[in-house]
Amino acid sequence: MEIRTYGDPALRRRAEPVEAIDDEIRTICERMVETMLRANGAGLAAPQIGISKRIIVLDVDGEFHVLINPELIETSGEVEQVNEGCLSVPGVDSTVERATHAVVEGTTLDGETVRIEGEGLLARAIQHEMDHLDGGLFLDHLSSARRQSLLKAYHRRQREEST
Ligand SMILES: [Zn+2]
Repeated sequence: MEIRTYGDPALRRRAEPVEAIDDEIRTICERMVETMLRANGAGLAAPQIGISKRIIVLDVDGEFHVLINPELIETSGEVEQVNEGCLSVPGVDSTVERATHAVVEGTTLDGETVRIEGEGLLARAIQHEMDHLDGGLFLDHLSSARRQSLLKAYHRRQREEST
């Protein structure tokens, strides 16, 4: 599956809840996992492959999760500035302020409800992927000056790559 990049309206839509875990949803999850692994990402949200459904996959520090209809239950702990990038905004990154602890609850492909508590990188990946389900991007957390300069660098890179 092709990863949608900045400017694609699919990334700005609020994703719809999954109503039933059927073959279609199982296929979507499989494709998301393949796409994440191929891109070497720590996570992926369905809108990033153009599917407006509330599904995220995570692969951080050997912890692997597929979460359907995830809800962010809590973010707590300290606030940390760590460098962050996004498969949908390739080639650029920036420090982003996020909580060091996050709790998310969702449904697995087997229909079980699970609660995942993340620290550090996993907490960051949870918050980052949850943003995608509401049409958010890590850029939205930056000051407008920082965002403008990052987007300038991004567009310059895109132009260079297409020539
Ligand atoms: Zn992302």
